[in-house]
Amino acid sequence: MSIASPMIINDGRLSAATWLASPNYNERPENTIIDTIVIHNISLPPNEFGVCANDGVHYVKALFTNQLDWDAHPYFQTIKGAEVSAHLLIERDGNITQFVNFDERAWHAGRSSYLGRRECNDYSIGIELEGSDFVSFSAAQYDTLAKVIAAIYTAYPKTRRHLTGHSDIAPGRKTDPGDYFEWTKLREKVADNLSH
Ligand SMILES: [Zn+2]
Repeated sequence: MSIASPMIINDGRLSAATWLASPNYNERPENTIIDTIVIHNISLPPNEFGVCANDGVHYVKALFTNQLDWDAHPYFQTIKGAEVSAHLLIERDGNITQFVNFDERAWHAGRSSYLGRRECNDYSIGIELEGSDFVSFSAAQYDTLAKVIAAIYTAYPKTRRHLTGHSDIAPGRKTDPGDYFEWTKLREKVADNLSH
């Protein structure tokens, strides 16, 4: 796929993503309109990127598929038993993995509220960027994320007005995507993709 071509979403799946099914999802409430995109960051162990288990599986992908070895790192003990997911993970090099169909409810937001509406998982799409609150995100991640969001805006037009961060829907509890995340840069890049 060339850089210039837009990404496509068909039947809830992003064409440019590698599919890796997570068991951590369920149905959205009946008649839910998907209208919000939530941006997160994640890294396992914290602040380390691209780390894989002995079997070669990226730790974040292992977490989202309930394959993480809780004994592999002391930090993992603190999240032991977590059953979580996101619709998408964008790695530092821009590679995209999809874990949950957009039409299903991924488990990324936890206790949350957006514009007075609780349970953001019900009506949002969750995108994890491999990163932390303490370093910049990569150019490849912004490029990819902007294309992904343009594709989501096209497939789920109600999301166009509701792009937010985990820290905004779970203040005091969550800090991601963090102060290094450049919302203006993202919005400009999304606009560029939509104008093509
Ligand atoms: Zn988050």
